[in-house]
Amino acid sequence: MRITANFDGGNIEVINQENHDDVQLAIRPDEGGEFYQWFNFKLEGVVGAKYTLNIINADGASYPKGWENYQAAATYDRQTWFRLPTRYQDGKLIIDVQLECDAIQIAYFAPYSYERHQDLLAAVQVHPLVTLSHLGETLDKRDLTLVKVGDDDEEKAKIWITARQHPGETMAEWLVEGLLNNLLDGDCPTAKALLDKANFYIVPNMNPDGSARGHLRTNAAGVNLNREWQSPSLAKSPEVFHVTQKMKQIGVDLFYDVHGDEGLPYVFLAGCEGVPAYNEKMASLQTSFVDALLLASADFQDKYGYDKDEPGKANLTVASNWVAQEFQCLSNTLEMPFKDNENMPDPISGWSPERSMYLGEASLVAMLAVVDKLR
Ligand code: ZN
Repeated sequence: MRITANFDGGNIEVINQENHDDVQLAIRPDEGGEFYQWFNFKLEGVVGAKYTLNIINADGASYPKGWENYQAAATYDRQTWFRLPTRYQDGKLIIDVQLECDAIQIAYFAPYSYERHQDLLAAVQVHPLVTLSHLGETLDKRDLTLVKVGDDDEEKAKIWITARQHPGETMAEWLVEGLLNNLLDGDCPTAKALLDKANFYIVPNMNPDGSARGHLRTNAAGVNLNREWQSPSLAKSPEVFHVTQKMKQIGVDLFYDVHGDEGLPYVFLAGCEGVPAYNEKMASLQTSFVDALLLASADFQDKYGYDKDEPGKANLTVASNWVAQEFQCLSNTLEMPFKDNENMPDPISGWSPERSMYLGEASLVAMLAVVDKLR
């Protein structure tokens, strides 16, 4: 048997692999050591043989509650992802595998590789409405890329979408891929109606360094980008620095920051009720947007989520709060589960890339519902 994580977005350390029944693994923390939960590795072995994989440092992970009722994602063909029998016991995450082929890839969630990110950018740029722009370099000298969909009409609403500030939340970029496919589909009436009224500014991957390094939550300097929006710096958080500069230059009428949540088995929004600038118009837009998304996606719900901030008490270092305060616009963090949607469980796949992509389509319907009222 052989285990490796020496590839794009890989993460695992082999502690002991002498015994098939008790393979001992550990997740390598993000730079700086504060966060870990993302794993992504390949196991090669004997077809038909059973392996019990123990992630022995699971109890020290960033969100131990994330392991409860969680099933690890796996694939043989790197196209179709399914879930493996997994349990959290005695502080270890225990994954059972019976090999059906020579090699299996196992991950916290279906990865969205840096190569696929490049493929996505290349695929969309051939569309006449798409312009790619280089916002700047990350600390590891990767490109931070903005996808603009639209024209030069200044009267149109400016819709910003960002994904993967937290690089292990790969479902966020799957959502963006689904959203872009839909938005660029000339036969899609929702997209045509939206593009008549709005231009889109999309950053499909806010944290390419963390993504390639196999981090859960931070960039190459170990910085949580979603706590940097009030005072980003080129030294610590160039990704946020470049995006906020561009936002100030272009303006923002709607912001949608896409994430995954380790603990809650639901799709939900976190709004900006707690920002000092919150007003009646923002509240009314929020209600309309939530109502429209409830209709557009049966996977979305509004019962479970984070506690709403008290008025004036929002943390303005968080992207959606900072944007709401700065631009007084409709601004949300969207959260998808790593586990499954408990309202509509799928025991084979759990929450999946496909479902994330459908939610991207549905998000456009909700945006269309409010687009006339944004400005
Ligand atoms: Zn997140």
